[in-house]
Amino acid sequence: MNCNKEKYRIAMKINKMVKQLSCLGISIVPFIQCHGQNNPVSQPNIIYIFPDQMRNCAMEFWHNEHFSKFINFTADPVKTPNLNRFAEESIVFTSAMSNCPLSTPHRGSLLTGMYPHKSGAMLNCNSDRPISSLRDDVVSISDVLRNNGYECAYIGKYHLDFPTPNDPQNPGHYVENRDPVWDAYTPPEKRHGFNFWYSYGTFDEHKHPHYWDTEGNRHDINEYSPKHEADVAIAYLENKNNERDATKPFFLVISMNPPHSPYHSLNDCREEDYKLYKDKSLQELLVRPNVDLTMEKAKCAPFYFAHVTGVDKEFGRILEAVKELDLDKNTIIVFSSDHGETLCSHGTSDPKNLPYTEAMNVPFLIRYPGKLIPRTVNYLLSSPDIMPTLLGLSGFKKQIPQDVQGYDFSETLLTNKVKNDIPNSVLYIKNIDGDKNEEGKVISYFPVSRGIKTLKYTLVLTINKKTKALEEVLFFDDEKDPYQMNNLDWNDFPQERKMLLSELSGLLKKADDPWFRERILNEFISY
Ligand code: CA
Repeated sequence: MNCNKEKYRIAMKINKMVKQLSCLGISIVPFIQCHGQNNPVSQPNIIYIFPDQMRNCAMEFWHNEHFSKFINFTADPVKTPNLNRFAEESIVFTSAMSNCPLSTPHRGSLLTGMYPHKSGAMLNCNSDRPISSLRDDVVSISDVLRNNGYECAYIGKYHLDFPTPNDPQNPGHYVENRDPVWDAYTPPEKRHGFNFWYSYGTFDEHKHPHYWDTEGNRHDINEYSPKHEADVAIAYLENKNNERDATKPFFLVISMNPPHSPYHSLNDCREEDYKLYKDKSLQELLVRPNVDLTMEKAKCAPFYFAHVTGVDKEFGRILEAVKELDLDKNTIIVFSSDHGETLCSHGTSDPKNLPYTEAMNVPFLIRYPGKLIPRTVNYLLSSPDIMPTLLGLSGFKKQIPQDVQGYDFSETLLTNKVKNDIPNSVLYIKNIDGDKNEEGKVISYFPVSRGIKTLKYTLVLTINKKTKALEEVLFFDDEKDPYQMNNLDWNDFPQERKMLLSELSGLLKKADDPWFRERILNEFISY
């Protein structure tokens, strides 16, 4: 008889008995821990929580001297008590960056450890862009973990599939009537190892979200989405409805939509969270020198911050459940976001897809009790690094796929000794629609901007779509000018320019980026 099967059968029997006793008001702490094949006790659970469009500076603990000494920006006037506590127990990154600060491209890199042109997710997915969709043949972190005995769950926004007419409730139709279609249903064969599913493509009504579950049933909910998703996550942790095989470790991803827009009224956020900000003036809320308070968007600030507090509250509930279930010791928990939010900086109403720090810089906090010493670090971790780092931390360094392009920070994080080959720059990527076919569908993408960000500088080059000639240079001294208000003339800084272009060339080559393959701007960049 298969020993593991037998162990599992006994564990399930005990589990059932514990539940029955619990119904009678008798509480039992299970004394047997049973793990399936290839799952020694040391393999940690992983919970990855990432709200959408959350600025790194929108966390209250940055005001605390213990953290503020590491940063050169003013933190937003937000209330995030749960993140404040979590930060004290975590490694807190000051300078984690989203390379291509947009929903789909970041999510593709997060799951695959590859840059957007390799993951297949180079533009935000919608039905006009068949060119952009997470590749079926790519190996994602969830594929690796699933193949190594993990239970894998995805809750919330996915936004990685090209929408097709595959509505499970209305076969042959899209899941929505918009043109182009943005929302999507991800069928089981496209879920990359996630065997618990409660998700949607993209849909922005925070108090009326919907989800498709593992079997493809649709759930329409009239509740603030972070609250609902936390409830589903907590039920998963408790294994309330037998969501998972409790004998196995789990990988749980929770992708909350707020503080992404809409953030215009109480139709979008909870009143209890909005109350904290409603009486503050715009000057008190938008505290940076690069903000234009006359912008229409400025009025969104109290609602944006209400979402931040709402997300924090639900994050806190999940942390509490982890603790109550005694899962905290052997669980890696990450809090991050897919990109930032400019929130009225630089006179732009575009919150993201821009090379400004406020669009690229994301929260990144990681807690692994007993393994990672809580501290604040300025490592330039970027989107493709997350997958290999998590696999490295979980003991799957050897299972990191060969074609992963990100850097594995796990050794540096575990030993607290900075390795020599640690990245000292990150690539900035902006793609736009390329050619269209007769039906108006986008069949190629155009790599319009590439750039480099170091701890001191941002340098971004933009080319003309027709001629591929240099059209714009953005060059900031981020140390002296953290709000990026002064675009320097790169001719005044020949040494820095040379050094940054050389470093950029290396990044483009390593990424096998289209700029490297086509030798774009080779009069400036020596490939
Ligand atoms: Ca997003």
